[in-house]
Amino acid sequence: MVSQFSTDRLEEVRHAVDVCTMCGFCKSVCPSFKAIGWDSALSRGRIVLTYGLLNGDLEPDQGFIDNMYTCTTCADCVRRCPSKVNIVDIIELCRADLVRNGHILPKHKAMCEGIVENGNPFKEKGSRREALGRVPHPAKIGYYVGCTATYRSKKTAQATLSILDKLGVDFTTVDEVCCGSVMQRVGWPQEDVTALMRKNVEQIKALGVEMLVLACAGCYRMFKLEYPKYVDVPFEVLHITEFLARQDLKLKPMEGVVATYHDPCHLGRHCGVYDAPREVIAKIPGLQFREMEFNKGLSHCCGGGGGVKSGYPGISKDIAVTRIEEASFADLIITTCPFCVNNLKDGAEGTGKQVRDLVEIVDELM
Ligand code: SF4
Ligand code: SF4
Repeated sequence: MVSQFSTDRLEEVRHAVDVCTMCGFCKSVCPSFKAIGWDSALSRGRIVLTYGLLNGDLEPDQGFIDNMYTCTTCADCVRRCPSKVNIVDIIELCRADLVRNGHILPKHKAMCEGIVENGNPFKEKGSRREALGRVPHPAKIGYYVGCTATYRSKKTAQATLSILDKLGVDFTTVDEVCCGSVMQRVGWPQEDVTALMRKNVEQIKALGVEMLVLACAGCYRMFKLEYPKYVDVPFEVLHITEFLARQDLKLKPMEGVVATYHDPCHLGRHCGVYDAPREVIAKIPGLQFREMEFNKGLSHCCGGGGGVKSGYPGISKDIAVTRIEEASFADLIITTCPFCVNNLKDGAEGTGKQVRDLVEIVDELM
C-alpha cells in the first residue's frame, strides 16, 4: 500500500522510532492504555503506528487518529523508557503531520480556529479586562491568567488576584491571548503558535514586567520551556506556587481534613516543579497531609491534557477515576492547575471527595 501521507516533521524522529526495543516498560505506566486496554493506545504501540506511517505502510484512518489523539502527553513513558525515546515529541510531531495533511478532530479544529480568531478556544468575544475586572498597568510583576481561568475556572483567577492583592504586591494583569498550549499539543501549525507567543511577550514587555507569575500548569510549561525555543523571553517565569513558597504566609488552620496533592504532569514531570506546591501546603496549620503512592515524578496523570478531554471525554474521565481511587484515603485532593481540577472533579463525582486548586485554599485561609 502506498500512502499519500506526506511527512516533514516525523522524519526528524526516525532515529528515535528506530531505537524502541519494544521492551514494554512504558506499558506499566501509560494511562491511556489502562483506560483503553489495547497496545495501540500506549507509547510502544503509538511508535509502531508512527513507524508504519513513516514508511508508508499505514494510512491515517480513524483508528490511527484515535490512537494518536488519546495520548494525554503526560510523559510518564518518557520517564520510564530505558532507551530514552521521547515518545511525547514523536506523538506531537506525528499529530503535526496529521494536521498538515488535513486529519484533525473537529473539536480540536474548532478550538484552534477559535484561538486564531478570538485569542481563546472558547469563542469568547468579550475582553479579558472585562472578564477579570482589571486593567493592565506598568508593574514589575505580571500575572498571566490563561484562557481557562479567565473564562471558565474563574475561581482560580479570582483567588490568585485576591492573594496578590492581600500580599500587597504591585502587579498587573496582561492583555493576553491564549498561550498556544492546546494548539501545540494537538499539532496545529507552529507559525500560528509562534504568533501568539510574540503577541504575549510583546504585551508583557511593554508593561515593564520582570517576573511573570502563572497559576496554570499548561501555560507555565509554555512560557518556561516552549516560548524560549521560538521567542526571546526577557523576564523570570514562576508558577504561583514557586512565588508563594517564597512568601511569609500567615494562614488560618485547617483542622480535621486529610489532604493529598496531585502533581500536574505539565508542572511536575515536564518542568520539574515538585517541592514548591508541597512547601505552600506545609504552611497550612493543622492540615493532615499524606502523599499518594504515585507522587512527584511517578505521579499518574489526571487524564485531562493533550486534547484528550475535548476529543475523548469518556477516556479522560476513566483516567481521572483511576487517579481519584489512588487517593482513597484523602478527603481533599489539592492540585495546582485548572485542567487537573476540572478533570479530577469529574473523576470524583459521587465519591464525596473534594478537589480544589491550592490558590483557592490559600486565599480562603489568608
Ligand atoms: S519503554 Fe521505550 S523502548 Fe521500551 S517499548 Fe516503551 S518506548 Fe519502546
Ligand atoms: S505520554 Fe502518557 S498517555 Fe502518552 S503515550 Fe506516554 S504514558 Fe501514554
